[in-house]
Amino acid sequence: MNMRYTIAKTRTGNEYLFSFSQKRISVCPPIVKALLKNESDINRLMKDNGCLEIDGKRYSTDEVNYYLRKIDFLKNNHYYDDVTPDDTFSFQFDEKIIKEQFSHADTILFEVTEKCNLRCLYCVYGQYYSVQDDRQFDNLEDVTANSVLDFFIPLWEKQRNKIYKNITIGFYGGEPLLNFSMIATIVDRLDSFAEKTGVGFQYIITTNGVLIDRYIDFLYKHKFRITISLDGDEEHDQYRVFPNGRPSYHIVVHNILQIKDLYPEYYDSHIIFNSVLHDKNDEVEVTDYMINRLGKKPIVSEAKPMDKTDSSKFVYAPKNNVAGIEGVLDIKKFLHHSIANSLLHFITAYGRDVKTDCGFFQYYDLNSIQRHPTGVCVPFSKKVFITAHGKILPCERINFKHTLGAVTNGKIIIDYSSIADSYNNHFLRCKELCSHCFNFFHCQLCLFNDVIQSDETYRCHSFQNERQHGQYIGYYWSFFEQSPFVYYEILNNLSYE
Ligand code: SF4
Ligand code: SF4
Repeated sequence: MNMRYTIAKTRTGNEYLFSFSQKRISVCPPIVKALLKNESDINRLMKDNGCLEIDGKRYSTDEVNYYLRKIDFLKNNHYYDDVTPDDTFSFQFDEKIIKEQFSHADTILFEVTEKCNLRCLYCVYGQYYSVQDDRQFDNLEDVTANSVLDFFIPLWEKQRNKIYKNITIGFYGGEPLLNFSMIATIVDRLDSFAEKTGVGFQYIITTNGVLIDRYIDFLYKHKFRITISLDGDEEHDQYRVFPNGRPSYHIVVHNILQIKDLYPEYYDSHIIFNSVLHDKNDEVEVTDYMINRLGKKPIVSEAKPMDKTDSSKFVYAPKNNVAGIEGVLDIKKFLHHSIANSLLHFITAYGRDVKTDCGFFQYYDLNSIQRHPTGVCVPFSKKVFITAHGKILPCERINFKHTLGAVTNGKIIIDYSSIADSYNNHFLRCKELCSHCFNFFHCQLCLFNDVIQSDETYRCHSFQNERQHGQYIGYYWSFFEQSPFVYYEILNNLSYE
């Protein structure tokens, strides 16, 4: 399938043209649209007197010729070249790529325990979901953790002159602080190694904050970067409960304020919050609360809709609209909203001058870029995730059935070649879907989370046909059209997190 351009309409009714070959958006007056759509038979459109009438507006012969010359100029400068997604999907993984990513991994995340002291209702390991393995509430074993370190430590030592930043070691759960002794053992071993070799480590942990008061001195001493989960005020946070249904909110906020008091600079530089959005909260209210009460803007994500029944429980429905039809009124609030981050992605994907600042008609050949269908990462390029049972995955966010290897009897068992084959096989099966999708060139969706369904079919809720792609561009472009200053505010104030 070939793609040339998409025409998008904004909220004010203006139309714009997105050129695939140039990756640029330009104004598309009705006459340009009509001439492009009837390219092969323009004479049919013309009246006997050589004029053209579109939507009640009359264009003289001179005007028509002016626009035809304009279209020709753009055409000669590749503005309307065809792009063929199918041809760009030629990138294949091989054993070498996977092995290289694994042996150069600079982020290892350990699931130190499956146990948790909370029973958050929207937890994917909980009663409403069937997406993960059944939990056995086990801890990561010493032998597993040590085998992973035995594998990577010599590699880090060998590569130490090439490591430009610290190796990141993360602790995840369940609630990781329930297996604090394992965290302390790993940190102890790596600190001794760091002392001998100069290889630096950065530790990170994701916690629900219930036990953090007990371990904060250790975390502070080792300069852990801490992500604490909290969904806003008491009302917003009501799904985060203990097994007996008691809310965790007061304990967690008390612990957070204690850290703020005890280690104010560390609190400012090393602690962030993660808030899950669901049917009991709202992004603007949560962000306002976190900034006012705890001094920090949280990272937000939406709860996964429950999958054990058809109920829409937990589905987030925003109450607050940060930009009305009249445009953006409160820029500070707007920049705190996730829509601003989405706009940043939109600018970098659809406005290539932001990235390249090259001449207006420098030829941009999207056809020559080799990629693979979907936006899935090259496995292990972001991290290596080790589960409490020694499974090896490319991250903690995908279903454990997509395991790529294992730590068994003190050995890492991983078959790079079959991992490559399995990804390539998935790509082959997605190709048909993605090569018809107008969103293909900047897709950021995960193959495992967004495309492979529980019945093993390949479907995508974000697929965009030509009309949907036009609506998508029109939605985002409306913000800039109505409040042009938003464009500069976003570029000046936001960066990728
Ligand atoms: S969610 Fe998918 S794309 Fe993202 S890191 Fe995990 S495997 Fe890679
Ligand atoms: S949005 Fe979905 S269908 Fe479109 S390219 Fe991405 S994964 Fe494929």
